[in-house]
Amino acid sequence: MAAKNNVFTDKETINWFKASKALNVAKQGLTDFLDKQLQNVHAALGKCCGNCPIEKLIPCPTNPYCNKRKRNYCPFHKSQKPQPCPTCDHVKQNIILQHRYSGPSWRNTRAENWAQDYWEIGKCFLPPDGYSHVCSVQESDFNGVISIMLNCLHFQTCLSSSCLSPPPPDKQCPLEKVRQIGRDVRHTSDNKVTDADQQDYFQTLSTLLADPNCLQHDPSATIACTTLRDIQLQNDHMSIEELEEYERGKADFRRNLIQFYTTKMNTVSVSPLWEGCDKPVCDIFVTPKLISIIIEKDGSRTKTNHTIQQYKDIFYNDKKLNRVLIEGDPGTGKSTFLIKLALDWCEAVLLHNPIHLSTFSDVDTLKDFQFLFTFH
Ligand SMILES: [Zn+2]
Ligand SMILES: [Zn+2]
Repeated sequence: MAAKNNVFTDKETINWFKASKALNVAKQGLTDFLDKQLQNVHAALGKCCGNCPIEKLIPCPTNPYCNKRKRNYCPFHKSQKPQPCPTCDHVKQNIILQHRYSGPSWRNTRAENWAQDYWEIGKCFLPPDGYSHVCSVQESDFNGVISIMLNCLHFQTCLSSSCLSPPPPDKQCPLEKVRQIGRDVRHTSDNKVTDADQQDYFQTLSTLLADPNCLQHDPSATIACTTLRDIQLQNDHMSIEELEEYERGKADFRRNLIQFYTTKMNTVSVSPLWEGCDKPVCDIFVTPKLISIIIEKDGSRTKTNHTIQQYKDIFYNDKKLNRVLIEGDPGTGKSTFLIKLALDWCEAVLLHNPIHLSTFSDVDTLKDFQFLFTFH
């Protein structure tokens, strides 16, 4: 298999395999530490009554949660009106004080479980979107783990000061650099890492895992350090196991892309004059009338009278097309069509939500594409 051979011999691709593996190892190595520290945070914040969901504890309107869509209707507070509860408000205040940017991710958390579940408090320190269904530190990804350590001020007390100086969000902050490694490796366009970067990644991750304050004495972190050294020394050919790692890396990337489309791109503004008036694309979408245009090799265009009625008409002629251009006058719904296409793709390849209405009936056609990128 030609593709397999290329993958196995390219040095920078192998570096990427190793870096990607290093991130998983580092995350594993930090998990026990994070678990233990979040239990400490939980114990220090005070007890909740256990009956108040987060909607009750947040006044209306609070941005960005109460992005009011209609007068007197708040999508965030639709099931619960705000109502003060001195016990829970006290804990809530403490969480805000513990947050580096005073901006806990309320949408991620179930406040009624704050009393018995330290992870529900930990989730307040995760990035704002996409983590509400993550049930534990173990299930969280590398970015989530590092984000908690960056956002929760408690970690200043259990990491050495050099880890957090200069303080975040300064890009020179060593812990910010760690997070950036995760982003660089996961969001690469070519799955390649240079030798210099690879060395730098391993050095930075090992330094964190051997941090003299607590991690140095943490058995999981110590094992992770040794494993990192082994990976780095491994000779540069790839086993079946590494090939699986590569496939997992691709799967991760696809999951990230789907998360992005379904959480960041799923609404459109319905009026340029009325800021914040965004609607879910699926609620307002109307299939535009599309006709196919044939572009000849010399660049000349011939309009056909063939109306597009299926995804097959867009993505296949005789064979599968890799690039498709959608043209039209301003305001005819090109962007909305593309967002809807991205959401349909998410449904076809992963989500399979039975109530999702796809633009064309042959949504399964989109399964033929491992990745779908839309450019506006
Ligand atoms: Zn509200
Ligand atoms: Zn309460």
